Amino acid sequence: MPTYLYTCGKCDDTFERVVLVVQRNRPQSCSRCGQMANRDLIAEQADTGSGRAKGWATGLESAALGVHPDQVPSERARLKKVTGRDVEFTPMGNPVFHSRGERKAVAKACGMLDLDGGYGDA
Ligand SMILES: [Zn+2]
Repeated sequence: MPTYLYTCGKCDDTFERVVLVVQRNRPQSCSRCGQMANRDLIAEQADTGSGRAKGWATGLESAALGVHPDQVPSERARLKKVTGRDVEFTPMGNPVFHSRGERKAVAKACGMLDLDGGYGDA
């Protein structure tokens, strides 16, 4: 069975769960607080490199919100101005998020909607 990522709307924990394909979009109970957590499509996209969940503690890289490496300094300055956050970037130009709030703020600053996995607790 495949593994999917879920992010808890209550405690912001991101965890992986092995789920039947047909049940992948069903909320899963959070391993930390027990709240039902929605599937986190952005975290899954961000995690394709390692194939394993890393969670917010080590940071989740987002290729979807990446820029050209040459643009990292100006993008960091822009995000700092717009979001008030000092966003970390990889050498390849992808932002690394350490919380769902940070990802949400940056996605908004980039004109993208963070749908929280698409199942609407936003
Ligand atoms: Zn939780």
